[in-house]
Amino acid sequence: MQRAAILKEINKFPEIEDFPDEEPEDNEVLIEQNETGICYRDILTMKGFFPRVTLPIVPGHEISGKVVKIGKNVTKFKVGDRVSSLIYVPCGKCEYCLSGRENLCRNKRTFGESLNGAYKKYIRVPEISLVKVPDGVGEEEAVIAACVTGMLIQAMRVNGGLSEGQWVLVTGAGGGVGSHAVQISKAYGAKVIAETSSPWKKELLEKLGADYVIEKENMERKVKEITGDGVHLALESVGRPTFNEAFRSLRFGGSVVVVGNVDVTPVNLPLGNLILKGNKVIGSISSTKRDMEEALRLSKEGKIKAIVGKKFDLNNVKEAYEALDRKEIFGRAFLKL
Ligand SMILES: [Zn+2]
Ligand SMILES: [Zn+2]
Repeated sequence: MQRAAILKEINKFPEIEDFPDEEPEDNEVLIEQNETGICYRDILTMKGFFPRVTLPIVPGHEISGKVVKIGKNVTKFKVGDRVSSLIYVPCGKCEYCLSGRENLCRNKRTFGESLNGAYKKYIRVPEISLVKVPDGVGEEEAVIAACVTGMLIQAMRVNGGLSEGQWVLVTGAGGGVGSHAVQISKAYGAKVIAETSSPWKKELLEKLGADYVIEKENMERKVKEITGDGVHLALESVGRPTFNEAFRSLRFGGSVVVVGNVDVTPVNLPLGNLILKGNKVIGSISSTKRDMEEALRLSKEGKIKAIVGKKFDLNNVKEAYEALDRKEIFGRAFLKL
């Protein structure tokens, strides 16, 4: 028996209960985890934002650990390997999966939503979701390789064309996503303007390498003062509250990549600007295994470090959710298993 957090009803905190031990099925491995990430998405799941969630369910999708058992037909992994998992299981057969864009797979099943997730010590994961973790990568860096750093590589590098010497604007830079986006910009040699609505995070962001830290008010004017023509890339981790200013902060040919949507109200897109300046508005979802491998490589080189805000015991999952909901944590929250 192990202990697991189980979400039974929408709008109620997960409960801690016994959970039966499991054996890996065909093509699966059993992973022993020491910790997992607590993601804002988990709180949205509890609040009923994702209608396809099947209850009861073990929440959590940030999976990394050591392989302790392998099922039949597993070919790429053996007992003792360190692994990290995608947050989902792709089908492996559709046009997206076959072209290395498994993040767009329409048939994917997501941990913590349609598959029991990471809020327990042992988890079964199909090998199609796994990558090996190289030696020298820290545990927290391996845990966030799919949902945070790999997701940002998909957004900024693959979709946004992030490269050396560019100007990058990161909105919501004090959050779990934004703070790592600052590091990834620096890892690829870009110059970063970090926007945060929490002035107390300014110094922390400068320590992470932000070249400038600004508040939301008059964002476009401030960005233009710093850069002259605007940024090449804006990483929009907030959504509607900052979108328009981020969009207007782009230079000619610049792109805004949207990964956050804190409120569901649509935005107004000034099509005149979009056309005249040749700007791009790009949505980006999750990560591929290739993105995860790149994130792990940058972690191994010391260019990305997990920003560990706070670690909670599994028993205190309620307290963790409340702290996240109040935005009290700089960086990421983790759950010890
Ligand atoms: Zn996540
Ligand atoms: Zn697929």
